Amino acid sequence: MSLLIKNGRVITAADDYIADIFIEGETINEIGNNLLLKADKEIDASGKLVFPGGIDPHVHLDMPFMGTFSSDNYETGTRAALFGGTTMVIDFILQKQGNSLQAALDEWRGRSNGNCIGDYSFHMAVTDFNDNTKKEIQGLIEKEGIVSFKTFMAYKGALMIDDRQMVGLMEEVKKHGGLINVHATNGDMIDYLIAKHRAEGKLSPLYHYLSQPEVTEAEASERFADMAHYTGCPGYIVHLTCEGALNAVRNATRRNQKVFVETCIQYLLLDASLYEKNFEGAKWVMSPPLRQQKDQETLWAGINQGLVQVVATDHCPFKWEQKLMGKDDFSKIPNGAPGVENRMNLIYNGGVVENRISLNRFVELTSTAAAKMFGLFPKKGTIAVGSDADIVIFDPEKEHTFGVENEHMNVDYSSYEGWKMKGKVETVLSRGRVVIDKGEHTGKQGDGQFLKRGECVKI
Ligand SMILES: [Zn+2]
Repeated sequence: MSLLIKNGRVITAADDYIADIFIEGETINEIGNNLLLKADKEIDASGKLVFPGGIDPHVHLDMPFMGTFSSDNYETGTRAALFGGTTMVIDFILQKQGNSLQAALDEWRGRSNGNCIGDYSFHMAVTDFNDNTKKEIQGLIEKEGIVSFKTFMAYKGALMIDDRQMVGLMEEVKKHGGLINVHATNGDMIDYLIAKHRAEGKLSPLYHYLSQPEVTEAEASERFADMAHYTGCPGYIVHLTCEGALNAVRNATRRNQKVFVETCIQYLLLDASLYEKNFEGAKWVMSPPLRQQKDQETLWAGINQGLVQVVATDHCPFKWEQKLMGKDDFSKIPNGAPGVENRMNLIYNGGVVENRISLNRFVELTSTAAAKMFGLFPKKGTIAVGSDADIVIFDPEKEHTFGVENEHMNVDYSSYEGWKMKGKVETVLSRGRVVIDKGEHTGKQGDGQFLKRGECVKI
């Protein structure tokens, strides 16, 4: 099967030009002006932007959490991602404390194998680092292609590791060429504040926010940077939200250290005033919580200063019925919100349309940087000869409105209900196959491949 995309405006992290793209099978075969090649199918992309499929390196599909499961499974979650122009996601395996990493990998494969529509990979969350798990790290990197290891500095008793384990894990991961991702918030301090608010009868979603003040994230980010500096292990802070935490990263540059940073689209565009809407605020109960407008400004500045490299979602949807588990107690509201389908459009609007970033930077933030960081480049993350034909054809003029009625995530509310968007994903290719065709889905369950990843390319 061959396919020719004619006359599109091709945007990568580095380039911007009008060209034809010839695809043979799963990969890009030729790029040029007026290609005289005969293809099985032709798409006219005149007047459209053509950019690499988005990579969202932070999603949680079918994940057991707080007594329930996130409501998008591997089929619905990867399909919704494709609708939004994201052709690959990286999901998180969570080790159960007391069990092996292999057991967790087997469990996650059981839920994901054969179910994805778009391509995917896993980070491994190490929640119990000991002499046994230490021995599993090398095999995960070298045999399974799982090169990034998530750690939690919060959720004590379930996911959190202490600093002794963190330093040990960093030394082991560094030895084998991997990368540490971190949820950097001070778990003990948050647990204290949650208990205090509950004891005082302060139980609304607003107290979820007030139990995780900025200092809890700033302190942990700085501590993480210190440990990464000491061990020399590459460190990547996931879902960084606030000025204090970004300043910890900024300070680390003063001793010639680089800490990699991901933020999520909601932290760039939404703020904590949403928690004042009584229980409706539960829609945005996530950890860390939404912050203030000054933090949004800090994050956009961090993007422009190159301190923030990746914009992800932390997509972890729960239906309203699940959110109601915490109706009388904020600490029982499942943490997480939908977003994987909205991300590309939101960054395009908040970034490009609002003149905060260039189109090249848009591609870098949504695709190229994650491909490099997580060992997928240049197979993924760019439009180039030999790369996978993961391509989005985007109509920059078409307008539409976000709302649960028009979306495909398995959740019954939208975090961005009624938001007017400029530009719309029109056609999406996943490894050469048309999976979204003029807004209709044409892929099928099982088409998505698990990708083994290589070493991180530092950016
Ligand atoms: Zn997450």
